[in-house]
Amino acid sequence: MSALPAALLAQTIDDHVAWLSAWMRVACLEVENHAALAEDLPAPESFAIWREEATKTLQDQPALTKLVELYDQLHRIARLALVKTPDGGPVARGDVVTVTMKFQELFSGLRRMERAFAAADSGLDTLTGLRARATARDDLARELSRFQRSGKPFCLALMDIDHFKKINDTYGHDAGDKVLSAVANHISRNLRPFDDAWRWGGEEFLLCLKETDLTGGATAVERVRAALEKSSIVLGDGKAITVTASFGVAAPGENPVISEILKQADAALYRAKDGGRNRVEKAVMA
Ligand code: GH3
Ligand code: MG
Ligand code: MG
Repeated sequence: MSALPAALLAQTIDDHVAWLSAWMRVACLEVENHAALAEDLPAPESFAIWREEATKTLQDQPALTKLVELYDQLHRIARLALVKTPDGGPVARGDVVTVTMKFQELFSGLRRMERAFAAADSGLDTLTGLRARATARDDLARELSRFQRSGKPFCLALMDIDHFKKINDTYGHDAGDKVLSAVANHISRNLRPFDDAWRWGGEEFLLCLKETDLTGGATAVERVRAALEKSSIVLGDGKAITVTASFGVAAPGENPVISEILKQADAALYRAKDGGRNRVEKAVMA
């Protein structure tokens, strides 16, 4: 069985730190033939092994393609710097700077990828840090059976950011990502600690309000809505913007099933959008 991509990634990060340290030692030496020493400093093979494994899950995702590019560039310029160093001299200071900067770029990218894998393994959405949608099924089934066993009410709220496409179009996709992560933080801060939240889709979130009926749940959600409307989100360039969201809330009725509650929450969300957005609508219970 092949090793886990996460373990291979950790290995290649360690190997690269050791590689840079060895390269720096060689670069400082005043020796006759740096080119010969370059032969003793091959690019860590663990990267290629990790890449092969990672490709199976990530295919040709831009983040992976970028890392491969950085790896190739780093080892090309590092080797070239040694090869072109005149006999008896250390590697030129400018080349050392170029190599270390490229190394830092690769190292940061590898660490980001490592964090993304760790988040995915733990069932969290990598962008927002909220729970990933895939984990909702079991959690919601548990909540429903608790309700059926103990009669403790709960409700579900679907939340969708208003005119989010316009944010991407106006400020760019990275700013859009920043907004998603800020809204997720806002949700976490404004829900009670025992409530749950998932990233449901692109700019859509699912909230589970516990131990509260439809009226209480809608009040809790209204608090999240009103606070979001008042808070500002600072983008990468320092510009602050405000976003709003629409919500649809539903609670279990007679003979409840999760898919039915979600359907009702979705219909209520649709009414909130249709009614002008930036509002909370309750499901009409049968
Ligand atoms: P509405 O008020 O009706 O909800 O309008 P909207 O623009 O929010 O809705 P629409 O469904 O038209 O657009 C959602 C946009 O969200 C389109 C999609 O490109 C963007 N999006 C989805 N996922 C992500 C993501 O992870 N990052 C960024 N930056 N944008 C995303
Ligand atoms: Mg949407
Ligand atoms: Mg939207």
